[in-house]
Amino acid sequence: MFKDFIKPLIIDIKVEEYLQNNDLNSLSSFLEKEQGKEENVKAYKNYLKKSKKDMNKFNESLCANSYCSICNIYPSFKEDFNESRFLILGVSNENASNFFWNFITKYPICNLCKLVILCAPAGVVKFDKFYMEKEEWWKRNFYTFVNLDTNLEDLFKKNESLKKKISSDNPYKEFIVDILEQAREESIWTLQNILFVEFNGQYQSKKSNLKYMHISKFIAKYFKTYSRETIGRIKNRKLKVELIDKILQNEDLNRVIFIRLKEYIKNNANGADIYYSTLSKALLNCIKMKGDENKVKDKVYRAFFTGKEMREYLKKNKSENKISSLAYRLLNTAKVGNKKDFMDTVLRLYINSEMEMPRIFLEAFYEDNIDFETLAQSFIAGLITETKEVEVHE
Ligand SMILES: [Zn+2]
Repeated sequence: MFKDFIKPLIIDIKVEEYLQNNDLNSLSSFLEKEQGKEENVKAYKNYLKKSKKDMNKFNESLCANSYCSICNIYPSFKEDFNESRFLILGVSNENASNFFWNFITKYPICNLCKLVILCAPAGVVKFDKFYMEKEEWWKRNFYTFVNLDTNLEDLFKKNESLKKKISSDNPYKEFIVDILEQAREESIWTLQNILFVEFNGQYQSKKSNLKYMHISKFIAKYFKTYSRETIGRIKNRKLKVELIDKILQNEDLNRVIFIRLKEYIKNNANGADIYYSTLSKALLNCIKMKGDENKVKDKVYRAFFTGKEMREYLKKNKSENKISSLAYRLLNTAKVGNKKDFMDTVLRLYINSEMEMPRIFLEAFYEDNIDFETLAQSFIAGLITETKEVEVHE
């Protein structure tokens, strides 16, 4: 560490000092004493030889060198900021030429910035994403950092507060809630300026991941207005954290909801968690599309309630054993977006039961407040939910 990262920097700083004092003699005796193989020592010695004790010529050679792309203060001595030396934060420059201005893939870095970047892990917080249980250990362990539009001291405090929350259900959400409580007036603006960065990697296999999450205005509004009455009520911790993660990464929630719904049907579990997940997704989409949020809430609830009514009917008519196969069947058609087969199954169900077909099914297909998948998920969630276990708060 000292030899590779600190000593070269000390040499650069010394050389800089001698140059500022116009003291070429001391510079040359200092360099003579340096027997190391450091790239900068070799370069300085070379400039000294070429300059023939002329300060201006020495400076000329030095300035002809590439300067650091990050700080532009110190020269860079053949060191490039790329994946092979700076795994995780650096990229494979040659293979990412479209990231670079004019496709010039060189990204020179100085000894000072090299040391600063080496210290990056000191400012991050370790985060074990326990719900990714099937992944290798290093893929579950993330290192995270939160950046805000603020001063260094506050930034440090904010990262310390994230550290305290890291073992909770969903540290990002709690962090966001904290920010909201501190600055209610400008909360949406503050939220929009938060940037979460997460990375992990395995040095041996040279594999790494880097993710960043920026909170869009509609996600900020969702968290501020609805997170408590939707996602906050989900009892399954894994599902809750996974959803928040996907929301922050702006990913589609349908896939997660369908996978979890299948699990819930299989385990005969209460569907209320699925209902709240579906409601979160529908409200997020509604905010994004500037729709009527109350209408959406009402429809998702009605679809859920309709499913519950059907469950009650089937139980009363001694058809309880049919519920899970029916739920599976509806799930399989909804998952692939097959509205026709889904509606065929629903229609037959209502005709056989001699119950009136609920309006929600008709509305769902002719109005644009709610999409087919949301309706289907919520209905199936109701179908697998025991009435006595539900706590639906309107
Ligand atoms: Zn630099």
